[in-house]
Amino acid sequence: MKNDHNPQQFGKLYIVATPIGNLNDITHRAISTLEEADLIAAEDTRHSGLLLSHYGIKKPFFALHDHNEQQKASVLVEKLQQGLNIALISDAGTPLISDPGFHLVRECKQQGIQVIPIPGACAAITALSAAGVASNRFSFEGFLPAKTKGRCDKLEALKDDSRTLIFYESTHRILDSLSDMQKVFGDERYVVIAREITKTWETIHGDNLPQLIEWLSAENNRTKGEIVLIVEGKPEDSSEEFSPQAIKALTLLTQELPLKKAAGLVAEIFGYKKNALYQYGLEFLK
Ligand code: SAM
Repeated sequence: MKNDHNPQQFGKLYIVATPIGNLNDITHRAISTLEEADLIAAEDTRHSGLLLSHYGIKKPFFALHDHNEQQKASVLVEKLQQGLNIALISDAGTPLISDPGFHLVRECKQQGIQVIPIPGACAAITALSAAGVASNRFSFEGFLPAKTKGRCDKLEALKDDSRTLIFYESTHRILDSLSDMQKVFGDERYVVIAREITKTWETIHGDNLPQLIEWLSAENNRTKGEIVLIVEGKPEDSSEEFSPQAIKALTLLTQELPLKKAAGLVAEIFGYKKNALYQYGLEFLK
């Protein structure tokens, strides 16, 4: 990969986030970037046409679908090399997040073309921010496989992960996916469904899997629309509980020493695992 090499004659690629529902959720910088771009590369040009006309922006479009991205990326790179500034948008939210753009960005990086992110909405992060589930460590998993076998295999691979898991899900698969989660993760796992975020029927509701499935099944509308699932990670081994003295010692020592060293000393004095203390320190003392 080439870095920091943007010959004057090359254009720039802007990765522009657009709203995930509420059209007010766009930044001033996103609008001015779209106004100033020579060309807008979009996933669905008809959909994006409507979006841009809402902001009074009229620009030439270039279609970049998932299925033709690799070929089309080369065409766009040529245009960038000729000096055109291009803005990439997707149907909603941040491009490349379960949306096209990866091949294009990678090719730009390989060719030394500057790629500039214009941040904004992303359904996964927006859902996480309001779910009330641990947000210090998480894994974004995109869409689960459509078929039960593939889905259960994927969930098996994730079941011992202690990080919060984030999935995108569709209306017609949500109940099947949750029931597979119950099979694999068990009845105690807490899951939040974030539906239609930023839109009229926004709903953010969490419960343990059996109760959540029951709640969703009670009313058809509760599974409708666009959905993010926030799944609590597997609980860490709770046998590691630290005495107040050990925590006090760790707190005091980290004021004078690097956390690793402090965790090592406290582990030795109080007989705890060094790594468990280190993780505790990362989570609560940093
Ligand atoms: N690039 C987008 C982003 O930054 O979030 C995601 C694109 S992905 C093709 C579309 C999926 O994102 C939907 O099926 C749904 O799972 C999730 N999603 C998008 N908008 C949403 C919203 N307003 N509420 C809940 N989920 C949403």
